[in-house]
Amino acid sequence: MTCPSCNKEATTFYRHAFTLQGVSVFRSMQGYLTCQHFGTLLRVVMFKKQLWLFLASAFIIVLLFAFNFRSYIPKYGIDNMATIWVAIVVFLFLLFTIGMRKYSHVEKAE
Ligand SMILES: [Zn+2]
Repeated sequence: MTCPSCNKEATTFYRHAFTLQGVSVFRSMQGYLTCQHFGTLLRVVMFKKQLWLFLASAFIIVLLFAFNFRSYIPKYGIDNMATIWVAIVVFLFLLFTIGMRKYSHVEKAE
C-alpha cells in the first residue's frame, strides 16, 4: 500500500504483521495505521480484487482439506496430518498478511 501523503510504501511486512503500526488495538481492528515515514494517520478503505480472490481460494483449500482430513489419517498418520494442517494455516496466514499489505488501498484519515 502506498501512503497518499508521501507516496512511499506506508508500512513494511514486519511492521504490518507484528506491530499495531502506531495505533491502538481498537483502531488497528478498524483498519487504521500510521505511515512509517511521517506517522500520518491512514485508514484502509478498500481491498483490491486480488485479495478477495486469495481469500476465496484459501477458503476452498481449507474446506477441501477439512473434508478430506479423516480419510488421509490412515494413509499418513495423525501426527503428519496435524503437522500439514498447521503448515497450511501458517502458510495461508503469511500469504494473507503479505496480500493485505500489498493489495489494500489506504487514504488519509485526518
Ligand atoms: Zn507517508
